[in-house]
Amino acid sequence: MPTEQTNCIFCKIVAGQIPCYKVFENPAVLAFLDIGPVSEGHTVLVPKAHYERLDQCPPAILAEVIAALGPVAKAITAAVSAPAYNILCNNGSQAGQVVKHLHFHIVPRKDNDGLFTQWPASKYAPGRAEEILQKIKEKMNI
Ligand code: AMP
Ligand code: ZN
Repeated sequence: MPTEQTNCIFCKIVAGQIPCYKVFENPAVLAFLDIGPVSEGHTVLVPKAHYERLDQCPPAILAEVIAALGPVAKAITAAVSAPAYNILCNNGSQAGQVVKHLHFHIVPRKDNDGLFTQWPASKYAPGRAEEILQKIKEKMNI
């Protein structure tokens, strides 16, 4: 179990040193309202232990996180009458991660809410998918 990071805002929230609007808590995870909601009910769910990225989090703790995500998302979306939701997990600053404590955004979604409208899908040039796939297989270590 990693020790709490003294300069981590989410560790401080977990430790009760910074207040939050607590949505859900069990021994392994904490969920609280995002301070800058992109929609009503926007919540972040974190493992209580400090890990920066998804790939650094032990599977047993990730399992606790995933187990909580569904029921918490269901309660939130029911509460705000949202028919849909996104689960987002930013890993690394280039991916938009600002707080370096692993967290999952639960974002309630409604018709025409204007969120996340960009999805710049493209196509692989001939042969490129095979090249990428080969490189991935060389790096796979599970
Ligand atoms: P990310 O860009 O994925 O690192 O998102 C971090 C999220 O944490 C942002 O949506 C912030 O609004 C949220 N956040 C930062 N500080 C707090 C806080 N004290 N309480 C609740 N949410 C916070
Ligand atoms: Zn932390």
